[in-house]
Amino acid sequence: TKWVYIFGENKTEGDASMKELLGGKGANLAEMSRLGLPVPPGFTITTQVCTHYYEEGQQYPSELKEQVHAAIAAVEELTERQFNSTTKPLLLSVRSGARVSMPGMMDTVLNLGLNDRTVEALAKDANDDRFAYDSYRRFIQMYSDVVLGVDHDYFEEILEDFKDEHDYSLDTDLTGDDWKEIVAAYKDKVEEELGRPFPEDPEEQLWGAVGAVFKSWMIPRAKTYRALHEIPEDWGTAVNVQAMVFGNTGENSATGVAFTRNPSTGENALYGEFLINAQGEDVVAGIRTPQDITEKARIEAHSEKPSLEATMPEVFAEFKAVCDKLENHYRDMQDLEFTVEHGKLWMLQTRNGKRTLKAALKIAVDMAKDGLITKEEAVERIAPSSLDQLLHPTIDPNSERDELTVGLPASPGAACGAIVFNSDDAETEKANGRSVILVRTETSPEDIHGMHAAEGILTTRGGMTSHAAVVARGMGKPCVAGAGSIRVDARNEIMSVDGRSFGKGDVITIDGGNGQVLAGKVQMQEPELSGDFKKLMEWADDIRRMNIRTNAETPADVKVALSFGAEGIGLCRTEHMFFEGERILAVREMILSDTVQERKAALAKLLPIQRQDFIDIFELMVDRPVTIRLLDPPLHEFLPKTDEDIAEVAKQMDIDPEELRERAEELEEFNPMLGNRGCRLLISYPEIAEMQARAIFEAALDVSKRHGRKVTPEIMVPLVGLKSELDIVRASIDGTAEVVAKELGEKPEYSVGTMIELPRAALLSEDIAASAEFFSFGTNDLTQTTFGISRDDAASFLGKYQDRKVMEKDPFVSLDIDGVGQLVKLAATNGRKTKADIKLGICGEHGGDPASIAFCETVGLNYVSCSPFRVPVARLAAAQAVL
Ligand code: PEP
Ligand code: MG
Repeated sequence: TKWVYIFGENKTEGDASMKELLGGKGANLAEMSRLGLPVPPGFTITTQVCTHYYEEGQQYPSELKEQVHAAIAAVEELTERQFNSTTKPLLLSVRSGARVSMPGMMDTVLNLGLNDRTVEALAKDANDDRFAYDSYRRFIQMYSDVVLGVDHDYFEEILEDFKDEHDYSLDTDLTGDDWKEIVAAYKDKVEEELGRPFPEDPEEQLWGAVGAVFKSWMIPRAKTYRALHEIPEDWGTAVNVQAMVFGNTGENSATGVAFTRNPSTGENALYGEFLINAQGEDVVAGIRTPQDITEKARIEAHSEKPSLEATMPEVFAEFKAVCDKLENHYRDMQDLEFTVEHGKLWMLQTRNGKRTLKAALKIAVDMAKDGLITKEEAVERIAPSSLDQLLHPTIDPNSERDELTVGLPASPGAACGAIVFNSDDAETEKANGRSVILVRTETSPEDIHGMHAAEGILTTRGGMTSHAAVVARGMGKPCVAGAGSIRVDARNEIMSVDGRSFGKGDVITIDGGNGQVLAGKVQMQEPELSGDFKKLMEWADDIRRMNIRTNAETPADVKVALSFGAEGIGLCRTEHMFFEGERILAVREMILSDTVQERKAALAKLLPIQRQDFIDIFELMVDRPVTIRLLDPPLHEFLPKTDEDIAEVAKQMDIDPEELRERAEELEEFNPMLGNRGCRLLISYPEIAEMQARAIFEAALDVSKRHGRKVTPEIMVPLVGLKSELDIVRASIDGTAEVVAKELGEKPEYSVGTMIELPRAALLSEDIAASAEFFSFGTNDLTQTTFGISRDDAASFLGKYQDRKVMEKDPFVSLDIDGVGQLVKLAATNGRKTKADIKLGICGEHGGDPASIAFCETVGLNYVSCSPFRVPVARLAAAQAVL
């Protein structure tokens, strides 16, 4: 088996298509080499080695050593340097590289191959002690930290003490001799901590680093990340070993990171940061404040520090050309790492860059407009679930702002919450229902769970490419990074700024769009959905086949849904209307009635209220379809439960509390979800269906007359299992229509359909379709009844089920395609046998879930219906479903 793939001038064995085997980083390094870009040569140890390693009790394949040695020989030939040489030593970087980039794993070891002998050779060869020993101390620290497990704080302390003693402020102030002292101190520290010396043998160093990468695949942080992002364990990681190039050889060397477009706004302008005379991690670690790459960015940031464009114009020009080439080649925004060694540019990484949703939309739309990608590709590039981010509120521009400071606008949206200083607290507080802002000096992969729990993240160190910024953007969380004037004392849980102190639990607001940090809670406003979002949605609308409806019953919800592009109402739950304001009284009267007469009297009070509800909805919806469902829930849901409530309601209704309690107890059911509800209720109390049908018809005729257009409501009967049930309710609807027609002199137009939310209904759909003009899949109940899992009680075990992989996803969130989906498919097929043009839709929660929407497309449903805030998600998902 081939376990090792070389990249480098004329020797490259891999390419970008080999991500599964080489990991993302390795595949792209190979691709860049193939494109003739300046990439230091190296090799990738495949993900299959990782899999083998774990399958075989942490053993490498027997051929691996030999293949690695051959690859090193190839790199030696290309670089004209030798590993472990005492004249021209080859130094290596070792990096992990899974198929998708994965924070939490061992990241990087630089300068591998240095020891007390090779460092002298390096110094002599470069004629530069400072550079050689600076590299060596970096290596000892990184290697000790990530491979040997010696905490990097020890090294920071030694360095800080040394700088204090010598009155140095910057790392670059240290001389070669200074670094020699530091190196000696570092090595002593390692020996003290481990009880054995730092490994001098480059071969041992290499295998130590490779082993550390593979081991890091299984550390808890990496596992958590995989679980959160649904990355399979058996993917494994690759290891990239690459010849070092040095950004720390002096003033004409540098290292940096860049995005080909702005990852926060999507603006089509090269965007990035670099440091002169620095190496790898310095930029991201926030040790020195990085400089902007372009003049434009420098000017916009009001930075005094010169840009790369100004200081190294030739390197900049070459870099810009590389960026353009890579963007055109990958047809997407790229995230790059580069190093400049003595004025020569080297590319260390490229990958499709993470971006905010705002940037993603702008980039996709811009690229499609420029013809770099098609409209279809643009639509496919936006993850529907990420649209949630757009719905983030922002700070109302007219609100009072008590500004504490301004940091970097690292991830857009505004968030408000109580301060917490560590990720565990963030999680605990969130679990207690509080909104929190996670405040840290800087974040690390250990903070992922806290960042998830927080509404927003505030850091005092690091730039736009710092861990906090990158991860927050990926999560769609507001983030302000590098707010340098804030002091965070995490141990004592105090944050101070400008003479003011804030402790744990104090409320602050951050604005990730402009970097502001504000005291207290600030007025927010809903986002405006325009520009690129609107354009992309139009393209999605052109592509999709299914219609998108919404589940809504209040005018406010209907308006939101319409503004988001809803094309109809798929489910108007009339019971929700019963809870509004005063009307609950009449509802309770109706329920407590002893006789049909009394009940009819109570329903008569409800009629005008309900009619007005429908008038409002029909007017808002203009000529879009509206499906109204007749009363569904068991009646006791409308009655008070606690003694206090019973007393209160009895007083309001002027009846005896005991009588009320008795009636409530009478109506109490052991399994209300399987009890007297849905069409059963409508059959038990036909007056209810009659009142509702009448309200619908009168409203429809009223709006039809006043607006001069036909309103044709779709009346839906819930929880049908038998055709005979539907027939009975249908008969009372039809009967009511005739009565209304006689009274008003005009016949209402309407259709009657049923929900398919019981397995029997799905199985007997051929039969039931004879009495229904439409089916709407109530996949909430259908999931509940197919699994026999109560939707209200599932939480106590579903979490454990997912942990133990009994079920991959919560079936109430994402449709169980194998089981429930089969019933949906069967019902759709059989319903069409009876009525070829029967209208089919879904109105369970799954109507807003992208994976479920994709399934609905395969079944050929006419529409999906979801809650108002999911409408944009559904529009996009429905488009992607046909691509
Ligand atoms: C359903 O069961 O899927 C449905 C939409 O109805 P409800 O959630 O109101 O029971
Ligand atoms: Mg239901």
